[in-house]
Amino acid sequence: MVSVTQTERDRDIIHATLTQLVVANRILAREGIIDNFGHVSVRHPLRDDRYFLSRSRSPEIVSRDDIMEFTLDGEKVSDDPRSPYAERHIHGAIYKDRPDVNAVAHHHARPVLPFTMVNQPLKPIFHMASVIGTNVPVWDSQDEFGDTNMLVDSMEMGHSLARALGGGRAALLRGHGAICVAQDLRAVVMISIGLRDNAALIQSTLALGPVKYLSDGEIEKTSAMLLGEMPLRRAWDYWVARAGYSGL
Ligand code: MN
Repeated sequence: MVSVTQTERDRDIIHATLTQLVVANRILAREGIIDNFGHVSVRHPLRDDRYFLSRSRSPEIVSRDDIMEFTLDGEKVSDDPRSPYAERHIHGAIYKDRPDVNAVAHHHARPVLPFTMVNQPLKPIFHMASVIGTNVPVWDSQDEFGDTNMLVDSMEMGHSLARALGGGRAALLRGHGAICVAQDLRAVVMISIGLRDNAALIQSTLALGPVKYLSDGEIEKTSAMLLGEMPLRRAWDYWVARAGYSGL
């Protein structure tokens, strides 16, 4: 009986995680972070060595049936013949290198892109963006891999990107986009939106005058507050509603 109960509980936990992953896909699409490309994943809630990610599909139309399970090396766990994302190695490499991370998003949000190309730091300028952290490093695939198709399509490239990310919450990919990581899907959505909004605000502020960024102490205190349970729940409920869901 105990094992049956355990199995049912495990199934419930996985079901809740997969539902949240589908909703996170739809939210990131609705909020304009992810467009026809880009993706978001979650670590398996019961196995540190696995993660869940949609098959190669635009996040706006991802549903439960699209979700696949992968090893951290990016191998499909089932014999599902459908194609995975070429850039899934971003997710596995980060889950390997960062035991504290349980959710990863990769996107090409346009306001972020200029900061991947010029020497202008993407530091938090307003309180809601404090969650991106004090330092958002830029990873340039050219440094280690030369001329490529610009996709992070091998574990070697994924680990290189993960090294650039270090212990941070976000990193930029030169001429390509960004990655955001967090302890759960709600937080990775908050960081992704904060990164995009902060990038846009720096650009509009620079048109008026020099930027005053948040101090490192403000970033630390404000992000610790925002990544707490109450703000995450409140923000998530708002995004869920905007994405067209109710009663979840
Ligand atoms: Mn990409």
